[in-house]
Amino acid sequence: AKQEGRQGYQFFTQEMQSRSVRNLQIVNALRQAQQLNQLQVYYQPQVSIADGQIIGAEALLRWWHPELGSVSPAEFIPIAEDSRLILSIGEWVIRQAVRQAKDWMKQGFAPLIMAVNLSAVQFRHHDLPALVSRILTEENLPPECLELELTEGVAMHNPQGAIAIMNNLHARGVRMSIDDFGTGYSSLSYLKKFKSYKLKIDQSFVRDINTDVEDKAIVSAIISLAKSLGLKTIAEGVETHDQLSFLKEQGCDEMQGYLISKPLPSDQFEALLNTYRSP
Ligand code: C2E
Ligand code: CA
Ligand code: CA
Ligand code: CA
Repeated sequence: AKQEGRQGYQFFTQEMQSRSVRNLQIVNALRQAQQLNQLQVYYQPQVSIADGQIIGAEALLRWWHPELGSVSPAEFIPIAEDSRLILSIGEWVIRQAVRQAKDWMKQGFAPLIMAVNLSAVQFRHHDLPALVSRILTEENLPPECLELELTEGVAMHNPQGAIAIMNNLHARGVRMSIDDFGTGYSSLSYLKKFKSYKLKIDQSFVRDINTDVEDKAIVSAIISLAKSLGLKTIAEGVETHDQLSFLKEQGCDEMQGYLISKPLPSDQFEALLNTYRSP
């Protein structure tokens, strides 16, 4: 047992070491990713369940590095947060997404609501509300066309602080949605005070919605809670028609997921918008 323990310990440190080596590689590579044009913003359609129209898009960051290959945001965003590189990368994403929304508007597509993810570091940075307003003014996009996604976990970490920041953004006309909803133990009293517009039902509840009775119950509870608070709902990770029918039956407003489309580079998203536009 003692030997096993020692081996276990060695294995643990080796794993930790290789993980920190990779993290270090990622931080160093990420520092240059912006200048080297390795970052790209993809867009995933958000669709109205009632009529199937595309009414919004979520901006999702993609990173391709010549040696590391394609690195998932699930891996590099936390590293970017720790190193605070997320502040400049995050600002770039907001700028790109706002500019893209304006570009599609200028091309005559029906106005889309552009949703952009905010990390905890970005959300708590004192300059965020002014920065967002500045970008909207410079790119000439109406503030109600931008929606900032904040995870329930980040919002609930310091609810009083979050309320103040959300109030500030709300006063500037920007919409907020609570991402990964259902995973963060919101207290209802706070949820009422958050200046949010939409709850995004986490994909972990949507996955087994047709077979798991608990997930069914959770999703319908979230939808009725949202309705009673006057909030819209969007389900993420919708992959099948059966999932969609359940959501429709429960009165969920919007959906997002592979059933409609994966996140797409801007030209492909535009091609998709065109197929919706033509008669
Ligand atoms: P998220 O905000 O919860 O984004 C949803 C994730 O689900 C995305 O993964 C999306 O590609 C994926 N997805 C969409 N539809 C489906 C589906 O039908 N099935 C399945 N299985 N997955 C689906 P992605 O793009 O890898 O992003 C992962 C996470 O990285 C995001 O989770 C978000 O937390 C973070 N992230 C991505 N881009 C940004 C960014 O610009 N800023 C910040 N702060 N975080 C970002
Ligand atoms: Ca999101
Ligand atoms: Ca989410
Ligand atoms: Ca997530």
